[in-house]
Amino acid sequence: MDTSINSFNNHVSFPTPELTYHGGRILSAPVFSNVYIGDYWRTTRGAQDRQYLDKFSKDILGSPYTRVWKEYGVKRAKVGTSTSLTLSPTKKAFTELDIQRSIFNGLQSGSIKRTSEQDVFTLFLPPGMVLLSPDGYSSREGLGGYHSSFDSKQFGRIYYAVVVYGSTGNGIPFSANPRDNITVTASHEWTEAATDPDVNNGELGWYDANYGEVSDIIMDMGGPLSQAYGSVNGYKVQKNWSNRDQRFEVRPLALHPKAL
Ligand SMILES: [Zn+2]
Repeated sequence: MDTSINSFNNHVSFPTPELTYHGGRILSAPVFSNVYIGDYWRTTRGAQDRQYLDKFSKDILGSPYTRVWKEYGVKRAKVGTSTSLTLSPTKKAFTELDIQRSIFNGLQSGSIKRTSEQDVFTLFLPPGMVLLSPDGYSSREGLGGYHSSFDSKQFGRIYYAVVVYGSTGNGIPFSANPRDNITVTASHEWTEAATDPDVNNGELGWYDANYGEVSDIIMDMGGPLSQAYGSVNGYKVQKNWSNRDQRFEVRPLALHPKAL
């Protein structure tokens, strides 16, 4: 579920990954909407970051990166809306309650739009904001983000992901460029929000008994962070395990190549 760094890199032999389907829901047509938290995203640099991340969503969700999702029942992903929400400038840490409140209030006020019951709202935190997960992890100790869901009478089940503005000492420093850290983590959480949306809140979807969800596998294998991501259309994204191809991929071949 989370993207915690696993720093042990000893010589235990790791079993081959194998994702299995556990009977839970799959988001076959997820709609990913971006929600930018705090005033940072209205500053000059923040607005440029936001523009970059909105373009990333459009470019990556229509790219070969999502081909591996098809193996796990996700037929097509769409880009939803892009919104920003204000936040008290004194706030230093963001919790599960903050996430749920932000989304619920945003939906109620109309600043966040529901477009589908397969909406996934991705909250991008501002630089320096610490993320604290319900199971006790902190972005100061290697948590890059997570995905989950909550239920509301008014809006039904709401899926979301939250992404830390990754830099040294907060989130996961895959590279020296915070934008890369954000896109790797977002691609990780989007993959898992689609292929295992009800984790911790219902039946599991696709899950590996040893390593967890689709994008957790490469992170849990204990290799260097530089090996855990690749490039697609100029963006850095998390490598995902493909059962079909028996390897980690960012740019799988088409599912039905022409027979030779
Ligand atoms: Zn994960």
